[in-house]
Amino acid sequence: MKLILFNTLSRSEEEFVPLKEGRAALYTCGPTVYNFAHIGNFRAYIFEDILRRTLKYFGFEVFQVMNLTDIDDKTIRDSMAAGMKLADYTRKYKDAFFEDIAKLRIEKAEAYPAATGHIPEMINMVRTLEAKGFAYKADDGSVYFPVAKFAEYGKLSRIDMEHQKAGARIKTDEYSKDNVADFALWKAWDEKDGDVFWDSPWGRGRPGWHIECSAMSMKYLGRTFDIHTGGIDNMFPHHEDEIAQSEAANGCKFVNYWLHCEHLLVNGQKMSKSLGNFHTLRDLMEKGFSGRQIRMLLAGTHYRKKLNFTLDLCEKAGKTLQGFDDFFRRLSHVQKRSAAGDDAAKIAKEATAKFAAGMASDLNVSEAMAAAHFLTREANKMLDSGSLGSDGAKRILDTFRDFDRIFAAFDVDQAIALEIPPEIMNLIERRQAARNNKDFASSDKLRGEIKALGWTVEDTPQGPRVVREN
Ligand code: AMP
Ligand code: ZN
Repeated sequence: MKLILFNTLSRSEEEFVPLKEGRAALYTCGPTVYNFAHIGNFRAYIFEDILRRTLKYFGFEVFQVMNLTDIDDKTIRDSMAAGMKLADYTRKYKDAFFEDIAKLRIEKAEAYPAATGHIPEMINMVRTLEAKGFAYKADDGSVYFPVAKFAEYGKLSRIDMEHQKAGARIKTDEYSKDNVADFALWKAWDEKDGDVFWDSPWGRGRPGWHIECSAMSMKYLGRTFDIHTGGIDNMFPHHEDEIAQSEAANGCKFVNYWLHCEHLLVNGQKMSKSLGNFHTLRDLMEKGFSGRQIRMLLAGTHYRKKLNFTLDLCEKAGKTLQGFDDFFRRLSHVQKRSAAGDDAAKIAKEATAKFAAGMASDLNVSEAMAAAHFLTREANKMLDSGSLGSDGAKRILDTFRDFDRIFAAFDVDQAIALEIPPEIMNLIERRQAARNNKDFASSDKLRGEIKALGWTVEDTPQGPRVVREN
């Protein structure tokens, strides 16, 4: 099956063909470690995790690099305010980041290079740019990239530089420069930087943010590599500037496929630190939501669609997962080995084909989830009519285990391990049979019996759901 991805560079869907057959090299812009990441940031990292897992699902071997931005205006500002050394300050948030991604079941990348560990590589790249006429030192001592010299500047974001007036707000890491759009490659030290600086051919200072990703991607993935991703706000200026630096320095194409995810919103506005409208994963977990639930919520909407966050949606994601848990348990209780009319193999195959087609179509998680719901519906029908044997049930459970190679949220085995006592299960099955026969008097009576034993039963589109009463 062809894997199709939407390439921001061409603004079109393209078949993914890696440079090296069977291998995908992936660079994902990582966190700035000056605070806890919020779940808007995690939307981006979960999208990248879904991409990574999808590449693996389709047989590619993945080599993923995610940078840790442990030096920039914000890390310096906040470490000074905390009266801490930069490295001690950022250590705490690096650790928190790894704890959080584990809770969200985000697979680890192959490399997490930190910017402060790669200053020589960045200096080297700026020297190359200088030698090729793509860097100049300004009066303030900083070194800038002359955007006007790079003819293809704007090809990713499609920004029209000729119509960018001086003074127009372009979010660069700003300082004095020849052209308003020129961006800093190397920033001269000033008193706000305290004891944070490195020596360079241009004097004491520190690298600009963009050069970090150009230098580190080159070190770990080479001059040209397959896929580069980030949130949509990274497209300009960050990624545009990375292209300019890398292509000007190396004289070859930087990245073949650019993928960007849309924002997580709150009341229609981007979730961000600066607006103060954010939730960290920790806040939500304190409110009683699980990492699995939040993963499901963030992964369940296509990455190129905006997603408006609400606590209600979080609750809903939890209900959906509980529904699946109950369904898996129901399947695990099928006793007889085989049953007449067992169509499990056929519907499992059909669902797998739908699932794979959805994911291959630019990571269409909605289609993939529709396949999961289709399988649940069909299997429930068979369970209700007694036409599913345990071999068939196992086949269906295995199909969900397979879906979890990408979703990592169904948790078939944990659900089954959370046992519901057989006598309750038996009553549930009998109640379901009564309902199917439209014998509502018996089904109500059975509900009462279940309740008397301390369990409640609800009817959901995925089938009956039981919870233990507290
Ligand atoms: P930062 O730490 O600000 O560099 O952001 C890390 C990643 O999170 C980048 O890929 C951003 O594009 C992404 N990001 C930031 N805010 C949001 C949001 N509200 N929704 C989705 N992605 C976001
Ligand atoms: Zn980056």
